[in-house]
Amino acid sequence: MMIRQPQNESRRIMIANRGEIASRVAKACRELGHTPIGLWTDNEPEATHLQFCDEWVHLEGASNAETYLNPEKILKIAKENNVHAIHPGYGFLSENADFARTLEANGITFIGPNTEAIRVMGDKAISKRLANEAGVPTVPGTDTAVPTVEEAVRISNDIGYPVLLKAVAGGGGRGMRACESEADVRANFEAVGRESLAAFNNGDLLVEKLILNPRHVEVQILADKKGNIFHFFERECSVQRRHQKIIEEAPSPFIGNDEAVRQDLCETAVKLAKAVDYDSAGTVEFIMAEDKSFYFLEMNTRIQVEHPITEEITGMDLIVCMIQSALGDELGIPSQEFITRTGHAIECRICAEDPITMLPAPGLVTGFETNFPQGTRFDHCMYKGLEVTPDFDPMVGKLVCKGIVRDVALRKMRAALDGLFIEGLKTNKPLLKEILKEEKFCEGDYSTSYIKEIAPQDKVDTSFNHHRFYTVLAGVEARRMGI
Ligand code: ADP
Ligand code: ADP
Ligand code: MG
Repeated sequence: MMIRQPQNESRRIMIANRGEIASRVAKACRELGHTPIGLWTDNEPEATHLQFCDEWVHLEGASNAETYLNPEKILKIAKENNVHAIHPGYGFLSENADFARTLEANGITFIGPNTEAIRVMGDKAISKRLANEAGVPTVPGTDTAVPTVEEAVRISNDIGYPVLLKAVAGGGGRGMRACESEADVRANFEAVGRESLAAFNNGDLLVEKLILNPRHVEVQILADKKGNIFHFFERECSVQRRHQKIIEEAPSPFIGNDEAVRQDLCETAVKLAKAVDYDSAGTVEFIMAEDKSFYFLEMNTRIQVEHPITEEITGMDLIVCMIQSALGDELGIPSQEFITRTGHAIECRICAEDPITMLPAPGLVTGFETNFPQGTRFDHCMYKGLEVTPDFDPMVGKLVCKGIVRDVALRKMRAALDGLFIEGLKTNKPLLKEILKEEKFCEGDYSTSYIKEIAPQDKVDTSFNHHRFYTVLAGVEARRMGI
């Protein structure tokens, strides 16, 4: 039997985001025959994503608060432009349940899950309670906000040190503090609460056991509005700095060929998604201990940065599916068995940051060329003249390589990094190159403590290969001149 993709009606879709994800969404809209509408702000009139949009609207202002984090302004523009649906990308308003609700109230489709799912999963305490109720294992500790430092100390003494103080509303790796002792909890409790209140408008904290040398493993979920929930296998994102991912791969090298663990993990993620009547794309994140027991961390009710590696091993387009799901169109996925995987994919986040300190390094791109091996995908927002400001996420691109097995994907990634030339801007490329040749990483033997323990940043070589860069430029120039 031939499985066909049903045709959909053409819609006007606005993208309330910038950077690489805005381009990615615009291309998916065009592919489906929708009209992608891009937004440009005062300081980014030449943003890359605009070239993939069919219409452009000025989102006046420069700061995030005036632009992509301004739900009223975005709603007003959407109404003025007869927008049928909004894709929020990741970050910004993507996990803002109030925004999604307001859109729906105005007859505009939010391309994401139902607002109730966003609300409950956006709170690390509520979602942990829900996971517990659904029989999904969670990290030992509390699943309600801890009201006082005395209570935090009592719980910590109970579960044993080290513990983690964690903001219920945290995200992006922020709002977390590890504590080694009772004195540490006493010293940090109030401060983490205060910082979380300032950053997330909510100072509530959980106390949980800090799992030592864990792996971060997550499961991609996709669901439609008819109750069909599928998983797209797992990704491993254990190479992290400041609790933020830098390199991700699929499948997880830690799970390896342990199909029983893989199936258990994926089915657990689906069970949780079912418990919240999930629809759209989403990710259930877990932390996996050294004995491969796993605990629910959080659910991200949006498309994630690292979604391309899942697309590479499954051949599915998650953004396309997300749009189809939100618009009530058919996904064209007959059953879970339809989703299979082959090979191995790896993603490196290319960030405008110092490769040794790993701190953001804003700057101006004075030259940009690529010369990639077969099997490479670069989702990015780069162009000569791009100014990376401290306002925006320092991530300027995602380099993705696929190979039939992990070693091949790694080999291709080394070649791809060598073929990525960014002049002017300081990036983490030298650090990524160092990791890609480091023994433990190449063996797949690493945990979330990798950067701290192995310290690949100490070996970084920051010399810029001008010879290679200009050879590539000369080649490009020669092609332009028809030589
Ligand atoms: P992912 O979860 O998709 O792997 P990140 O955790 O890096 O990737 O988050 C994606 C983007 O969203 C980043 O730009 C991050 O800074 C931002 N982000 C995520 N959650 C929050 C939050 N609660 N507050 C502010 N920014 C957030
Ligand atoms: P965020 O919303 O910021 O992404 P997460 O709960 O997903 O927060 O945690 C981010 C990272 O912090 C995880 O990938 C992991 O490295 C670390 N982490 C979180 N909870 C724990 C824990 N209980 N023990 C050890 N590491 C943890
Ligand atoms: Mg997370």
